[in-house]
Amino acid sequence: MTLTARELVRRIARDSGLRYSDVVRRVNAEMAKGESLISSVQTLARETGLDPRRYVLDPLRIIDRIREVLTEDHTRTLMISAVIAQMVESPRSSRLPLPAFFAFMEILSEIEGQMVLRRDTPQDVEETATEVIELITTLVSLICAWSKTGIKGVAPDCPAELRSLAKTVLRKTRLYQGGMWVCISCGRVVSLRDVRGLVCRDCDKGPRHGSAAVHKVDSTSAERHRIGYGAYATDEES
Ligand SMILES: [Zn+2]
Repeated sequence: MTLTARELVRRIARDSGLRYSDVVRRVNAEMAKGESLISSVQTLARETGLDPRRYVLDPLRIIDRIREVLTEDHTRTLMISAVIAQMVESPRSSRLPLPAFFAFMEILSEIEGQMVLRRDTPQDVEETATEVIELITTLVSLICAWSKTGIKGVAPDCPAELRSLAKTVLRKTRLYQGGMWVCISCGRVVSLRDVRGLVCRDCDKGPRHGSAAVHKVDSTSAERHRIGYGAYATDEES
């Protein structure tokens, strides 16, 4: 089953005989005109004599897969959160668009309490993080409407079940564009100037309130306790 934009593009490249890089370029050009990912791929399918109906992605299946992956292993999910938070914080990083990050945080808070605790150390953090990033980026590209300058609304064909997620992503992205940030710990809206890592000043200083899983990705403690790829010393467990 095709779940990510990359898989879809790869599939149409294979089926059409076009080079992957050419397909990417064509799809990007269509999307820059304001076309959605799917309609861009379908345009290309039509042009190359393929059945456009075979080139679709289902946002509901994508979010199911994201939830499945993130609930499988609590520790691994925390590590993935750390990887993702660092991508967002790093000024050099452009691999994760902010709307995708906001969607990730929403899904994470939704599944809190459902994550399975496992005893053994997860081995597949890097692959799983990559999968989650691709899934979430694809999801956001499907449920939100885009323009040249970025996100502009909820996609007209966004499934009813995902409209509130799309709206939240939209709201947080607009706040960010307006110089505001929603603290990932306490949820307060603060000025970007008052953000430390991904949290507000108060959450950065004090004992953390709330219980979002991503507390542990707070940048300073994450760096201090980092003992490996996304792994933390156990004193962070408290
Ligand atoms: Zn806060």
